[in-house]
Amino acid sequence: MTSPLEENSVDPGRAAQSAAAAANSAWPAAAALNESLRDASPAEVISAALRAVGRDRLALVSSFGTESAALLKVMADVDPAIPVIFLDTGWLFEETLTYRDTLIAALGLKDVRSIPPSEDALKQEDPDRELWFSDPDSCCRIRKVEPLARALQPFAAWINGRKRFQGGLRADLPMVEDDGARLKFNPFANASREDIEAIYASAKLPPHPLVASGFRSVGCMPCTSRGQAGEDARAGRWRGRAKTECGIHTMKIP
Ligand code: SF4
Repeated sequence: MTSPLEENSVDPGRAAQSAAAAANSAWPAAAALNESLRDASPAEVISAALRAVGRDRLALVSSFGTESAALLKVMADVDPAIPVIFLDTGWLFEETLTYRDTLIAALGLKDVRSIPPSEDALKQEDPDRELWFSDPDSCCRIRKVEPLARALQPFAAWINGRKRFQGGLRADLPMVEDDGARLKFNPFANASREDIEAIYASAKLPPHPLVASGFRSVGCMPCTSRGQAGEDARAGRWRGRAKTECGIHTMKIP
């Protein structure tokens, strides 16, 4: 039988989701935003995201990978205090952690949040740290998708750095999409590789330390390999497997 206390108790996670869902009905629709921002610059998209959901409800998600500094630079020019969520999976290269700290200092980022996986999930599902090999989708779920879902709870919208030129599932990327409970802004959807390189050059952004040794896209150590001549930049990720995405962009984040 349910006690009065239980009847009145509130699950904080569910309450946050309900509040987000209720509040989201007040946000502009993704389709209308996408239409109005179809030809907008990356800075205009980030500014529009701030206006759409308000200063306290917007976050940017970054891997601090080989192209990440360009989006972080554009964001920092708009507002360096927008929270940046960084999923520290426990399998990242030491160079990526160093690069995170380099960019925080270089760009004056004020609120970078490094999010680890849940200790309980690691103990229960990956005690021997071999899940990346036996079941990479589950490994990405406990190390990326679930931590991101927790980190995004306070937010009504998030920004990320995917581009259409990356191909695959990203070839039809809209500028703004509905991510279930949130709006999702893709300010670089229209950008070309040359646009990204131009931002690095004009702002004198430091490259990811592993670029010099042949890495063109960098994720977790066991699932990242050097690119070969003529390959897509992301071909070195999950090499030899059918997997091309970790899941944070292919699942609705609750
Ligand atoms: S990229 Fe590899 S190591 Fe990283 S979370 Fe996914 S499967 Fe695990």
